[in-house]
Amino acid sequence: MPKILRSLRCQNCDGSLDYKAGEVITTCPYCGNTQVVEMSKPFMFEHSMLPLKIEEEAVEPVVRSWMRKGFLKRADLHRKSEITSQQLRLLPFWVVEVRALTAYEGIFDRVSPAYVKQDNLEKSYNWLILARRRAGFPTKEFDFPAAGTQPYDFRRVPEYAEVINAQLTKDEAVEMVQQEVEEHHRHLISKDVDRIVKIHTAFTVGEAQYVHAPVWYIKYKYKRKNYNVLLGGHRGIVIAGEFPRD
Ligand SMILES: [Zn+2]
Repeated sequence: MPKILRSLRCQNCDGSLDYKAGEVITTCPYCGNTQVVEMSKPFMFEHSMLPLKIEEEAVEPVVRSWMRKGFLKRADLHRKSEITSQQLRLLPFWVVEVRALTAYEGIFDRVSPAYVKQDNLEKSYNWLILARRRAGFPTKEFDFPAAGTQPYDFRRVPEYAEVINAQLTKDEAVEMVQQEVEEHHRHLISKDVDRIVKIHTAFTVGEAQYVHAPVWYIKYKYKRKNYNVLLGGHRGIVIAGEFPRD
């Protein structure tokens, strides 16, 4: 199937919005208005951003300093590698406020005799999820300051940035967050008991915030091989980076 580009008007400024099939939220490049696209009934809503601190010219020094750190990296990496491309993307995220109470029963058999343990695990989160399907983004490695967001301002988005639209609605995001939190709790509990017999998680879902965060997609070359680096544009911290290993 060819990629279908559809056209829609901004509810605020009447500018034309382009979005690809499968995208459910668009942000107007002319006024920054954000709306949900559901068939023919768009509605507007609140939208935040993490401000960009690492501008175009600051990327290379930050990457080179990352190359210099860590004993696994080759000593000449920062001198001998060449940055071949750098693209700024504003990635769409949902930050879901959730409280999860997991009641469980498990068997602890590290000791003899084994015994049954019943307990609760209760935690609150601002859980981050990328609003795209089939996304290989390492959300867990991304230090996302929930308190550092600001209202979305299209004037603060540089021309060279690519603003990515959401493919997940708020409800879908909330559902995925619940699955991930449940999985996370199962993992935590499996450190506490050797076999889980019963487990049930109840959720209290609070606010869900739609946020765009700047991420630099960088490619570099070292000894004729290519490597990728993802750099958070709000703090200049490498989220994930490939490098040659012996
Ligand atoms: Zn507009």
